[in-house]
Order: sequence, then C-alpha cells, then structure tokens
Amino acid sequence: MVKKFIGVLSEEKIRRYSAVPLSSVRVIRQDKLSRMDLGENGSLLVMLIPYYVSGEKRNISVYAVPRDYHLYFSILGEKLVSSLKEDFPGFVFRTAADNSPVDEVDAAVRSGLGFFGDNGLFISPEYGSFVFIGGIYSDMPCENYGIPSAVPGRRECSHCGKCRKACPGDPSDKKIGCLSAITQKKGTLTSAEAELIRKTGTAWGCDICQQVCPFNTGVKDTEISFFLESRTPYLTYDFVKNMSEGDFSSRAYSWRKRETILRNLAILEGKEEESGGI
Ligand code: SF4
Ligand code: SF4
Repeated sequence: MVKKFIGVLSEEKIRRYSAVPLSSVRVIRQDKLSRMDLGENGSLLVMLIPYYVSGEKRNISVYAVPRDYHLYFSILGEKLVSSLKEDFPGFVFRTAADNSPVDEVDAAVRSGLGFFGDNGLFISPEYGSFVFIGGIYSDMPCENYGIPSAVPGRRECSHCGKCRKACPGDPSDKKIGCLSAITQKKGTLTSAEAELIRKTGTAWGCDICQQVCPFNTGVKDTEISFFLESRTPYLTYDFVKNMSEGDFSSRAYSWRKRETILRNLAILEGKEEESGGI
C-alpha cells in the first residue's frame, strides 16, 4: 500500500525528495537539534520545491513574485507531519521552518538531489537553481521511509564562469557588493548602490547569476498551485504603497518593512523626492 506521505507529496507535485541520516549532515545549531530530541538514528526528509514560472516581465526576483514560501511550507509541513504520524506511528516528525538546525542545502547535496554551483546556489538537475528546500526532522532511521536513495555527485557545476562574468555587482567588493543584498539593505543607499538598482532595473533581489547558468536553460515551470497564484511580477511604487497590510505581509520582501522596497522603487521611478529622499 502506498504510504500516505507519498500521496501528499504526489498531490503537491513534489517529485524529488530523499532522506539522509542526521549524523551525516552539517549541523549549524546543535542546541536546537538537541532540543528536538531525535536520538542518534534520526533522519531528515529533504524535498525540492520548484517555484519557477517563465514568460513574465519582472522587476523582482522570481522567488518573490508569489506569496512567501514560508506560508506554503507551514501548510505543507502540517499535512506531511500528520500523514507521517499515520504511516509511522511511534516516531516523532517535526518541521523547522526558518530556523533549521542543520544546513538544509548541504543535506540536499548529500542526499544526492543536486550540487553547489559556483554562483553559491544549490542546483538541481531537474529544476536548476529555482527550488526551495524543505525538510522534515524525525527520530526515525532514514531507511524506514523506503525511498530509493539518490546518487550524490550525479551532476556538478561545469565552472563555466558565466555567473561570475554576468554579475553586475561584485560580492567580494565591500564598496558595491551583491545587488540582491543591496536591495534588502535598510536605510540610505550610497549613490553607487542606487545607480546599480537603476542600471539593472531591479526592485528586489537579483537573479542574474541564475538566469545565465546553463543548468537553468529550459527549466520547467512549477506545477505547485501556491506558486502559480497571487503573482505580482512587476511592482510599482504606488502599487506597493497601496497594498493592504495583509497582502504586503504575505510577501517575501515584507521582512525588511515596506520602506525598503519603496525606497528601491522610488529610485527606479525617479520619485526619491516624493518618497522623502533615499
Ligand atoms: S553559470 Fe557555470 S559556473 Fe556558474 S553555477 Fe552555473 S554552471 Fe556553475
Ligand atoms: S545575485 Fe546578482 S549581484 Fe549577487 S552574485 Fe548573483 S549576479 Fe551577482
């Protein structure tokens, strides 16, 4: 009989997942992991959650176009935990939301679901780098899941250099830095930072080192309905200013408060004066 959790993953169109022993992954918060009390044989169920949608005119990163991924994962996590408890009574299953005690990207690589690119991102052969990684923690040994193991190192970054060449900022240069980080920086920007926003037409994030990566060529659109709904690919100053509190707080860019993205949009639209300066 098909396990209930496999049914949930299939309904959600989550097709790539694997399980790894917790003892094999990089722990970043031992205190938090110890509090989960998962014993020595615990495991992590790692899932790839693709979110790419093509054919949109955007001025923000693809990940920020739908509602915040964390909203999706809190619903998915609940459904999965409840199905896993039915499938494997007596074991503990937990989500970690934004505060993972282990490096989930490292876990996804170790579980054979993909590899690290020179652009600093996790890349999956199926979905490129446009994936979120979700994890369910358990005291159950990973063999119990009955999932065929993926093979680590199946593909790897070709070191073609395209991501570095196309980068409009310079992550190693403290004077400019990564455009994505600049768009998320609070307060006043330097004139060089504001100019980078203007030059690239970017209001939030930066996907350039992803867009040029050959592993993202022809990547399929997500089938997950959450990421297909409520999309706002092209933001304007007035649109964001007038968003309801409920809508705004469901967006990935809300964590830096409304004034941060409004500042970026004011730069793009020449409204610095109107918005009180940058
Ligand atoms: S663009 Fe080339 S070097 Fe950069 S991550 Fe992709 S394959 Fe690797
Ligand atoms: S996100 Fe943009 S600015 Fe940052 S490293 Fe990638 S290409 Fe460069």
